[in-house]
Amino acid sequence: MSKVKKKVKVIKIDIDKCNGCRACEVVCSAFHANPKYSSNNPARSRIRLIREPLRDVYLPVYAGEYAKAECAGRDKYVLDGKEYEECDFCRASCPSRDIFKEPDSGLPLKCDMCEDDPPQEKPLCVQWCINDALTYEEREEEVEEEVKLDDMEVGLGSMVDKYGLQKVMDTVARMSKKE
Ligand code: SF4
Ligand code: SF4
Repeated sequence: MSKVKKKVKVIKIDIDKCNGCRACEVVCSAFHANPKYSSNNPARSRIRLIREPLRDVYLPVYAGEYAKAECAGRDKYVLDGKEYEECDFCRASCPSRDIFKEPDSGLPLKCDMCEDDPPQEKPLCVQWCINDALTYEEREEEVEEEVKLDDMEVGLGSMVDKYGLQKVMDTVARMSKKE
């Protein structure tokens, strides 16, 4: 495989600085509303807060790759005297939980670093985090060229996993007749 230069975008999370305000969820869901900024609903956000105020747990987590099956991992972590489940840190849109799924369609959500068009100076959640719990860095790396699935392929794949190929094909055929 050939090597290509790639801009790597990194959001660093300092959980000690997060106070659970949820501004990151609000701006992300509003930016991704259709039309943009027409509504906000944290369930549509690509960053979610694992939030347990009684235990002073505030953990921002970014939506990552779609996973068609849940994993077997159920370890627990104790950090600074607070206990976390393995799933708390997981970025996958997976069948074992509700987060990182578009609430109406069930399609998987993934952080897109706020797309490139229009270009954002910094990801919006970073801009809106006034506590500096989220900070942004960019660097260049040489990586192997990869074949990337676009959002539509990932979404269709998740529907096929859930309902089966035949049902998805029947639905598309029925919809195309209506148009
Ligand atoms: S905006 Fe910052 S402080 Fe507020 S919940 Fe998100 S990460 Fe935490
Ligand atoms: S970087 Fe942009 S798309 Fe990703 S979680 Fe933050 S606001 Fe949402």
